[in-house]
Amino acid sequence: MTSEPGRTARLLLLPLVLWLPWLPHILGQNVVPFEYHNYSQLTQVLEFHQNHSDITHLYSIGQSVQGRELWVIAISDNPTVHEVGEPEVQYVGNIHGNEVIGKELLLHLLEDLTGGYGENETISRFLNSTRLHILPAMNPDGLEGSFEGDCYSSIGRGNALNYDLNRNFPDKFEENTHPIQPETRAIMNWARTIPFSLSAIFHGGAMVANYPWDNTPLGQDGPSIYSRSPDDDIYRHLALTYSENHGSMYQGDVCSGDFFEDGISNGADWYPLRGGMQDWVYIHGDCLTITLEVSCCKYPTEDQLRDHWAENKNSLIELLLQAHRGIKGQVFINGTDTPVPDATVTIGDRGNSFHTTSAGEFWRILVPGQYSVTVSKAGFSSETRTVTVPSNLTFSAAIEDFYLVETGTSSAPNASVPSLTFIITSTLICLLKVETDL
Ligand SMILES: [Zn+2]
Repeated sequence: MTSEPGRTARLLLLPLVLWLPWLPHILGQNVVPFEYHNYSQLTQVLEFHQNHSDITHLYSIGQSVQGRELWVIAISDNPTVHEVGEPEVQYVGNIHGNEVIGKELLLHLLEDLTGGYGENETISRFLNSTRLHILPAMNPDGLEGSFEGDCYSSIGRGNALNYDLNRNFPDKFEENTHPIQPETRAIMNWARTIPFSLSAIFHGGAMVANYPWDNTPLGQDGPSIYSRSPDDDIYRHLALTYSENHGSMYQGDVCSGDFFEDGISNGADWYPLRGGMQDWVYIHGDCLTITLEVSCCKYPTEDQLRDHWAENKNSLIELLLQAHRGIKGQVFINGTDTPVPDATVTIGDRGNSFHTTSAGEFWRILVPGQYSVTVSKAGFSSETRTVTVPSNLTFSAAIEDFYLVETGTSSAPNASVPSLTFIITSTLICLLKVETDL
C-alpha cells in the first residue's frame, strides 16, 4: 500500500520525469547523445530544435521513395528567410544510406551552433550573417536498411529502389541514363530555390576531402586523371581547410590502402564517376561543393562517435567560415536601386560564370589575390573591375557592387527583329533544355 505522501511525491516528480530527456539541454548540456539516430530519432532531434530555438527552421524538401521526409533544418538569426547579401550554405549527410558518420556529425553541429549562438562570438557572427541548411539524411530509406558495424558492404548504400544517389544526377561530361530518383530531384529543386554558394556532402569509407570534377571528358570508364575545374585553386583551399583542421585527415594515410597527399584529392584523380552530386551542384547551383569522406568504416560501432565528433568539429566550423571569403555584392541598373537578376559574374579567364539572384546578388569565394571581375548581361554594357581579395581573415569578403548601363538592346548589335518562327523554335529549344536538365 502506498502512503499519501508517497503518492504526492510521485505526482510532483511526474513532470520532471517527462522532461528528463531534455533536461541536459535546458541546463546547457548536450541533448544529442553519442548514439546513432535512426530516421524517427533524427526527426525527434530536429523537431526539438525547431520547438526550442528561435534560430532554427525545420522544413522538408520532399520525400524518399518510401515516403520519409527529407528534413532540412535551417540555422540563422532569421532562419525562415533569405536575407539579401547573406550567403546560404548547405551541408548534406547520408547520401549513401550506410555511410552514417556525417549524419551524426551534423546533429552535433546543429547542437553546437544553437548552443553557441549568443555565447560564442564567431558562431554568433556567422549565424547573424549566414544561413546554414543541414540535411542530415538525404537517403533515409537506405539508412533504415543498413546496420551498425558494417564497414564495407553496399547494403543500404542505394535508395529503396537501389539507385546510387551519387550516380543519379545529370552529368557534365556524358549522358546519364539512370532515371532521376525522388531524393535526387528534391536536391535539384532545392538548389534552384535557394542561392547556395558553399556546400559539403558527407560520405564514409575513406578519409579525404574531395573536390570537382568527379568525372572527366573521357567518361567514368576512362583512367583516373586530374580533372581540373575552373575554380581548382579555391577548391584546393576549401578541401585543405577541412583536412588541416581535422584531427587526422591531413595525414593522408588514415585508412589502410589509401594515400591522399595532405588528405585531399581531385575527384576524378581518385576515380572518375558519372552522375555525382558535387559536379551537378557546382554547375547548376553556382555553388562551390566538396565531398567529405569522414570515416574509414562506413558504419562504425557506436562507441567511436565521440572521437569522430572531436576530430571533425573544428573542420566543420572552419569550412563554414569560408563562405565569407572572396567577393560578394549586388548588381544594379546604373543610377537606380533596381537589381539586375541573372547577370553573369566572371572571374578573369576562368571560363565559367556565376549568375546573380533575383536581388542581383552574387558571391564568389576566392583565395587572396587580385582578380579581374566582369559583370555582364544582354541589354546592358558590361563592366570589368580589378578587385583585391584580402588575405585570409575571417569574415573578410570584399563587397563589390556593380552598376550596369542599359544599352537598350538585348541581343547582338546587328541582330534583326526575330521572326515568329524563330521565337517558337527558340522557345521549344529552351523547353527541351529544361526538360533534359531535369
Ligand atoms: Zn559514399
